[in-house]
Amino acid sequence: MQISIHDILSLVSKHSSSEQVFIFDLDSTIYDLTRRQAKIIKEFASNYKHEGDFLPIAERILQADFQRFPFFAENALKEKRIPIHPVFKKYFYPFWYERFFSNEYLYHDELEPGVVNFVKKLVQMNVQVVYLTGRDMPRMGEGTKDKLCQDGLLQHGEQLVLKPNKDMVDREFKLDVVLSMHEPGKKVYFLDNEASNNNYIYTHLPDIMNIFYDSVHSESEQPHEDLYILSSFLSHNDS
Ligand SMILES: [Mg+2]
Repeated sequence: MQISIHDILSLVSKHSSSEQVFIFDLDSTIYDLTRRQAKIIKEFASNYKHEGDFLPIAERILQADFQRFPFFAENALKEKRIPIHPVFKKYFYPFWYERFFSNEYLYHDELEPGVVNFVKKLVQMNVQVVYLTGRDMPRMGEGTKDKLCQDGLLQHGEQLVLKPNKDMVDREFKLDVVLSMHEPGKKVYFLDNEASNNNYIYTHLPDIMNIFYDSVHSESEQPHEDLYILSSFLSHNDS
């Protein structure tokens, strides 16, 4: 069922006497990855444009204006009616993988509209804010921390939790962390854009406030019908 920022804040204020923790995912929840993704695909086009007969396709990629980049790069090309060229098929994913999961490219991410304001309100209401991400410490720890600081999201005791290594399964790692914060009398909110994470947490912890952020996701699963769905961090009062 749909829920708004206004609804969430009014729920938070109802529990203001007890301890509360709000757990946010980062990628495609706090951050829109469109610019990170567009940067990588354009760099790819530029680096490989002279490979075989890729040039006309590469030029179209370089000129494309990507809005709300989808989870899979193929879909971004399909949306622009750009053919999936054999050069793309052969070389893109290794190229993408090295860059997407790196400190350097995180700086292109953009905040979802309204999210900073929402975090600020939670902090003012004495809610413990936790960023729980499938990014891993060795490859992305430094950049993640730095970017959150730049964006004013680590200034009031907010906590950042990354995977200690890349081989851990996101949803299992997230469940362990959520379990460690799940104490009697404490109200837990979990917000993530990847339905497989939400559903997995829901299976093990059905009593927490589990919210699916409806942005961009892998579509590997759809959110369970009992989950809340948030579509925007903007409230009616925001212009
Ligand atoms: Mg995510």
